[in-house]
Amino acid sequence: MKEKNTVLIIGGGAAGMIAAIAARRNGADVTILERNSRIGRKILATGNGRCNLTNVNIDVSKYHGRNPKFIYGAISRFNYDMTIDFFESLGIAPKVEDEGKVFPMSGQASSVLDVLRYEIESNEVNVVCDANVYDVQKKKQFEATISGGKTYRGERVILCTGGKASPNLGSNGSGYALAERLGHSAIEPFPALVQLKLNALFLKSVMGVKFEGRADVVANGKVLRSESGEILFTEYGISGPPILQLSRTAGEHVLNGDKVFIRLDLVESTDEEELKYYLIERFSRCPKKTFSFALVGFINKRLIPVVLKQAGIGDINKPCKSISENECSKIAHILKDWELEVTGTNLWSSAQVTAGGINVNEIESRTMESKLVPGLYFAGEIVDIDGDCGGYNLQWAWSSGYLAGESAAKSLKHDSD
Ligand SMILES: Cc1cc2nc3c(=O)[nH]c(=O)nc-3n(C[C@H](O)[C@H](O)[C@H](O)COP(=O)(O)OP(=O)(O)OC[C@H]3O[C@@H](n4cnc5c(N)ncnc54)[C@H](O)[C@@H]3O)c2cc1C
Repeated sequence: MKEKNTVLIIGGGAAGMIAAIAARRNGADVTILERNSRIGRKILATGNGRCNLTNVNIDVSKYHGRNPKFIYGAISRFNYDMTIDFFESLGIAPKVEDEGKVFPMSGQASSVLDVLRYEIESNEVNVVCDANVYDVQKKKQFEATISGGKTYRGERVILCTGGKASPNLGSNGSGYALAERLGHSAIEPFPALVQLKLNALFLKSVMGVKFEGRADVVANGKVLRSESGEILFTEYGISGPPILQLSRTAGEHVLNGDKVFIRLDLVESTDEEELKYYLIERFSRCPKKTFSFALVGFINKRLIPVVLKQAGIGDINKPCKSISENECSKIAHILKDWELEVTGTNLWSSAQVTAGGINVNEIESRTMESKLVPGLYFAGEIVDIDGDCGGYNLQWAWSSGYLAGESAAKSLKHDSD
């Protein structure tokens, strides 16, 4: 291996693998150092094992961080169409599903990993697994030392160790310390695309209950974001696709010390006034039934006592004939505007992605090269960019990884000219 022409890639995830391919195609010798026993382990877990590899609707509005516009450099160099062409050339036939989500036709995340690994092997990338990098230094060249003491040298380094989400898949946050020792700073990372914890005593009685509805994140009296879909109560709080999508906003405000609420609408199809009259009518049709039994068939049975209690109804077993209009108003209000206090996000082990990370002001967006350490590049989740659920995070890994690999290799060529 000619160290002079070598790009060292630290972390063999989605970003690291595509960076390796791009650097190799641009003439560099490439070594991937990966702490797991295989590269690309996280890819197998993506999209519930189907790998939602990108989205038709790639747009800056789907990305978050201190400066989401930072994505433009990478997303325009390696955009949605190029991503589709790249994977098609490797053998992945794309299938577009709801909300523009793109999956491989095979329905298997493993097929995405297989073709990437094949491309890496056939391009003679040097892959070193079980290589936990604990130190990177810039001397004459970059030197990356792995547990056990062995050192690898290269003219360029791409740091793509991921964030802290799902550490069981390899990304344990160790990349931040490597970058910080080289002079970089990180925006405090926190879990995103993750379930939320609620301050509510009734959770044990409703865990497992699902409903179709809308959830808003509310902080300081303002609705910050709303999402609809299937919502699920859990033992510690609340989950489901809309909640994962809202978790970044909620988590950030909780971290800032704000009072944060999830406001639920369990009956999206109607407004509160209409719902009140529907309930009055519904209860009047069965004067002998108890309050709680009269709601069976309208909302999940396990939710009924909780909703009635939250609405301030003292005796849920009194007959419907004794119901007042005011009580119907209160029930309608809870069903449409049920506010539950958020105490935080679930743990890193449950998170799909990391919000926060290496400060993008310290990185050149057109190349992904460090502005502080020439020859050092970043890609993927390690930087302070995170996307919505729906293929946006992998697209960021592909785009930033491709750009970093290509830029690193091209800069080597310039050096030798
Ligand atoms: C369960 C789950 C499902 C997901 N589903 C989707 C989806 O369908 N669509 C989507 O767009 N996104 C999805 N994501 C998010 C997406 O997978 C990540 O954003 C993306 O994989 C990040 O790529 P990366 O290469 O930056 O980091 P990672 O994939 O985390 O890769 C980093 C690699 O670096 C290695 N590493 C870390 N530290 C060191 C070190 N010190 N030395 C050597 N190696 C190191 C790790 O072992 C790992 O292999 C999902 C995430 C999870 C957890």
